[in-house]
Amino acid sequence: MPEPVCVRVPAKINLHLHVGAVRPDGYHELVTVFQAVSLYDEVTATAARTLTLSVSGADAGSVPADERNLAWRAAVLLARRAGVDPAVHLELRKGIPVAGGMAGGSADAAATLVACDVLWGTGLSRSELTEIAVEIGSDVAFALVGGTALGTGRGERLTPVLASGRWHWVLGIADGGLPTPRVYRELDRMRDAGATPEQPAAADPAGLINALRVHDPDMLGELLVNELQPAAVSLRPELRRALRAGVEAGALGGLVSGSGPTCALLARSEEHAVRLAASLAGAGVWRTVRVAQGPVAGARVREA
Ligand code: C5P
Repeated sequence: MPEPVCVRVPAKINLHLHVGAVRPDGYHELVTVFQAVSLYDEVTATAARTLTLSVSGADAGSVPADERNLAWRAAVLLARRAGVDPAVHLELRKGIPVAGGMAGGSADAAATLVACDVLWGTGLSRSELTEIAVEIGSDVAFALVGGTALGTGRGERLTPVLASGRWHWVLGIADGGLPTPRVYRELDRMRDAGATPEQPAAADPAGLINALRVHDPDMLGELLVNELQPAAVSLRPELRRALRAGVEAGALGGLVSGSGPTCALLARSEEHAVRLAASLAGAGVWRTVRVAQGPVAGARVREA
């Protein structure tokens, strides 16, 4: 019997998210800058007779433990590709908020690909794993690589971005989640109704990429932008107050992460992040406030 394999995988935030036209396949054309941050899920893959899945951690009850789970799908697709039986028990430990706009489900799928590849000794290359990742979802390929990257297409075409030094974030985690398709539909509805975005995001995030390269937190704070934010705020109006509270407490900038409702607030330093988090924890606008750093590596095996 092979030893169980445990993989740790980070959450992502989007520092820039431009949402373009709807494509014939129903997806939106995106230009986004992802950063992997130090909030993690863990997936342990153990040899078993059949495919089974269990979930623990915050909000575990709202995560499906069957074929609807992206980790389940990852195991099935990898097994098919490698010509083996998907004989594995997957144990998911959630540290990433569920339906929070931080790609937690995609992260679990990426971690499952890495864990099962090792458990089954399939020996697929990184690019073969990436092909399967892209089939599972738009954010899965990024969770494999982590770091900071420019994403185009539906978000799955990745180019690394140089982000000098460490970036310090305060993450405001809301009560309950927002289903991603619902947020995109709300954006389409708002655009059809002629509502212009409060902050249009350029299709070329050159300024933001420069701020990352030269490590200028003030400049980055000014340039954070998410075109899905008005749709998320329309569905969860309290996010507007939550973001304002973050900036009033001294954040250099803040935005809804992806489709939300998690918000990411930029701090100047680690101490600043801790102070900001402490003052926001008592503000009563979020369920939980966490400090995190980026960029961090993507899905990696944890040595026992
Ligand atoms: O790719 P993924 O399954 O993670 O996407 C979830 C949903 O988000 C899609 O079904 C679609 O409604 C929306 N989406 C989109 N355009 C993208 C990425 C996601 O409309 N580029």
